Amino acid sequence: MNADVETVRTADRKHVFHSWSAQELIDPLPVAGAEGSYFWDYEGTRYLDFSSSLVYTNIGYQHPKVVAAIQEQAAKLCTIAPGFAVDVRSEAARLIAERTPGDLDKIFFTNGGAEAVENAVRMARLHTGRPKVLSAYRSYHGATTGAINLTGDSRRFGNDSATAGVVRFWGPFAYRSPFHATTEAEECERALRHLADTIAFEGPQSIAALILEPVVGAAGVLVPPPGYLAGVRELCDRYGIVFILDEVMVGFGRIGTWFAADHWGVTPDLLCFAKGVNSGYVPLGGVAISAAIAATFARRPYPGGLTYSGHPLACAASVATLTTMAEEGIVEQSARTGAELLGPGLRELAERHPSVGEVRGLGTFWALELVRDRQTREPLVPYAASGADNAPMAEFAAACKKGGLWPLTAGNRIHLAPACNIAAADVAKGLEILDGALSVADAHMA
Ligand code: PLP
Repeated sequence: MNADVETVRTADRKHVFHSWSAQELIDPLPVAGAEGSYFWDYEGTRYLDFSSSLVYTNIGYQHPKVVAAIQEQAAKLCTIAPGFAVDVRSEAARLIAERTPGDLDKIFFTNGGAEAVENAVRMARLHTGRPKVLSAYRSYHGATTGAINLTGDSRRFGNDSATAGVVRFWGPFAYRSPFHATTEAEECERALRHLADTIAFEGPQSIAALILEPVVGAAGVLVPPPGYLAGVRELCDRYGIVFILDEVMVGFGRIGTWFAADHWGVTPDLLCFAKGVNSGYVPLGGVAISAAIAATFARRPYPGGLTYSGHPLACAASVATLTTMAEEGIVEQSARTGAELLGPGLRELAERHPSVGEVRGLGTFWALELVRDRQTREPLVPYAASGADNAPMAEFAAACKKGGLWPLTAGNRIHLAPACNIAAADVAKGLEILDGALSVADAHMA
């Protein structure tokens, strides 16, 4: 279908109801195509995508091997109910299980991240017979009712039903330490003590699960201090709490390892995934399940399921994505890009732009924390800002786009999440555009 730009725009405005938006206050860019690290509009303006759509095109747009695999599967078997054993579903599950840490060897497929979280929590509650779930204030776990109530960040505010059995705690964030820590080691130790106190005062016997993003994604690209995840694992073991790692955003190469769990050498009891599992070419998510939790449902039916669980087209895209990532060394490339190009490049920008309060990240997943004042660390815009309060970030984002870089901004931050296989020349180009746009942020310094 080759529609012209006005047809696309008009039908969109008339009929498409967009996520997270006041419908009359948005003007979505009509996109004509995409390839690799770029997409373009109908006027031919190309954007270097540092958002990877919503941090999921880990392998870039239109990778020919993944496109071909979807086409071949479509010709062979577009769909079949989840109750059957199908070659491509079995193979996707095998490849995922092979990559997940420890004994996470059984895969329950969903259509995306929020459903993965919902099912992981359901499994944990049934496995333990306990009601509560602990989650971090700085977190995002999805937009279905359960997942958004587990979510800590401000996207919960419009949905908070206060009924999900959730207890929230503060995770470590050295730059804005909730514990008044002055070193990473202190932050780690105090965050673990706070978590241990939370568990003790909630009553461990009432806590089914603790859910955590190993690197907090949408809520800040927060890299945990060494020892934190191992400490959480230890607390969960001590009290029989199911440890759920939500790797929806960081799994499959984003931080330079297959899973963030690998980077810190921890194994959760349940691992949620989506996005990078097939670069989002066809919706797919899931839960990787430990042997002990799988055993709970060996003779007792699991009370959950989805019409499209393990959809053949999505699984074919996953098999091709995972195979290609291995063949082309894309996970290793993500690690190298972070260590040799993005990290050093962003730190160099921070030296010249006073609005950059902190640079943090790993692999192809970074954030610049933008501030009005480096001393006080006052954010460039207040927490959960909108409208005029958010103007400095809106101007900064507009400057990125004008330069040809598609940014992912969140609160007072820009998140840098290009394709895991971005070319070195495109990293350099992105940094150059960012350099210009940061002058706009600098102009708002106190
Ligand atoms: N969990 C995390 C860590 C996420 O980043 C997201 C989405 O960004 C989700 C869950 C929800 O995934 P989905 O939008 O596919 O439901």
